[in-house]
Amino acid sequence: MSLAQWTKVDAYFNGLLAPSDPDLDAALEHSAASGLAPHQVAPNQGKLLQLLARIQGARTVLEIGTLGGYSTIWLARALPEDGRLISLEADPECAEVARANVARAGLGNVVEIRTGPALDSLPRLAEEGAGPFDVVFIDADKPNNPGYLEWALRLTRPGSLIIGDNVVRDGAVADSESTDPKVRGVRRFTELIAEEPRLTATAIQTVGEKGYDGFALALVTG
Ligand code: SAM
Repeated sequence: MSLAQWTKVDAYFNGLLAPSDPDLDAALEHSAASGLAPHQVAPNQGKLLQLLARIQGARTVLEIGTLGGYSTIWLARALPEDGRLISLEADPECAEVARANVARAGLGNVVEIRTGPALDSLPRLAEEGAGPFDVVFIDADKPNNPGYLEWALRLTRPGSLIIGDNVVRDGAVADSESTDPKVRGVRRFTELIAEEPRLTATAIQTVGEKGYDGFALALVTG
């Protein structure tokens, strides 16, 4: 099996089940034209996030890692009109592109994008009494995943869902000798989830147009 095969299958499923639309297309085009890296989730992954948020009956979502707001749009579309999605982005240029993309998609009233390192923004959210969030999507710098998990636990409630993206890293997550800070970050993240009595979780490997990677899903139970 190859990336070409996985991409072909993704195109088949996406065409039927996760079709694009002018706002999602415009978000991708504006992000690319602005020089943002194409590190957003694939369409069927965006749709998975949206379905998970809907299954949760989510009214509030916290996203860590906005990029151009592509996953933000998928997630925000799961929310009711009075729902709220806060997305944290370190790079001011990404945040600006994302704000424009979100506004174009008609989601400006639901989505707030906060600029700055997430580990600075998260304590401020807690001080403000934000949350509890029904869904937390962690998709930023992987070495900080352990810290993001700690804050996600503080900002959620029993029944909330915490999702971590890119936890497989081409299979490198299984390499206990890896010195790659991203691999070490997702390994520590997974270990902390496993040790945490308030979480029950799994991780799923995925292949597709984005290559070989995967998601961790953790339900807050207590
Ligand atoms: N969730 C986005 C999507 O699927 O459309 C993709 C996010 S991209 C994989 C990771 C993003 O995290 C980048 O935009 C990067 O600038 C941002 N980032 C990296 N380090 C960060 C930090 N310390 N705090 C907040 N955002 C950070």
